[in-house]
Amino acid sequence: MAQREGSLEAPTRHALDWQNPKFYDEADLFHELERVYDICHGCRRCVSLCTSFPTLFDLVDESPTMEVDGIKKEDYWKVVDQCYLCDLCFMTKCPYVPPHEWNLDFPHLMLRAKAVKFKKGEVKFRDKLLSSTDALGKLASIPVVTQVTNFAINNGAARSVMDGVLEIHKERKMPEYAGRTFRSSAKPRNDFPVKPGERTPGKVAIYSTCYVNYNEPGIGHDLVKLLEHNEIPAVVVEKEACCGMPKLELGDLETV
Ligand code: SF4
Ligand code: SF4
Repeated sequence: MAQREGSLEAPTRHALDWQNPKFYDEADLFHELERVYDICHGCRRCVSLCTSFPTLFDLVDESPTMEVDGIKKEDYWKVVDQCYLCDLCFMTKCPYVPPHEWNLDFPHLMLRAKAVKFKKGEVKFRDKLLSSTDALGKLASIPVVTQVTNFAINNGAARSVMDGVLEIHKERKMPEYAGRTFRSSAKPRNDFPVKPGERTPGKVAIYSTCYVNYNEPGIGHDLVKLLEHNEIPAVVVEKEACCGMPKLELGDLETV
């Protein structure tokens, strides 16, 4: 019987088996990476989505065999490092996602590879530090520390030091920290009557995100004004922590 193409309906996503010791078996991971890289090399549909796929296809095209078996195993990581887990390839492009028998979930495989790398301790201190957005934000929001941090962000000599120690390029634009966080200053109105829409509950709980909370509270305040203008009752969620995406991208599954 002909195999029906995947992704004609919403793809089936299998849970990540991240607590199974086999998940961290490097030989098993490389076996799966080779299988999936070979399918992608034969397809190449995702070439325009991100840098992972062009990296893979360049590695294939420049290998002695011009096939996946010609790529050095240590170069497999170059593909993994370029994936930022946006899920586009899985959600929008791939015809081999489950329930297709090839069972291809590229982002989950990249996440598994990142988790293996993290477990092996091959993640740099600077990555662990920079992915602690909530902790850094809390620290940088302390009065005086905010001014010192913003000074350092905009100071050439300090940026050269950061370039050397943290490998943040000195010309990379970095977001400054706000004097007052969004959560400490937002006052959304909750006294409007709830008017449920056809597909919406008619009230809003605002999750600010680390970036809006610590770096760009103005975006959050604009949202509050918009909700107030439209008389939609809103609250800032009572407790908030980092969504975990930076740690997920690092493969630090335990922390997430
Ligand atoms: S999930 Fe990763 S590999 Fe897939 S499109 Fe996004 S960045 Fe690229
Ligand atoms: S993820 Fe799927 S659609 Fe994208 S290149 Fe690989 S096989 Fe093709």
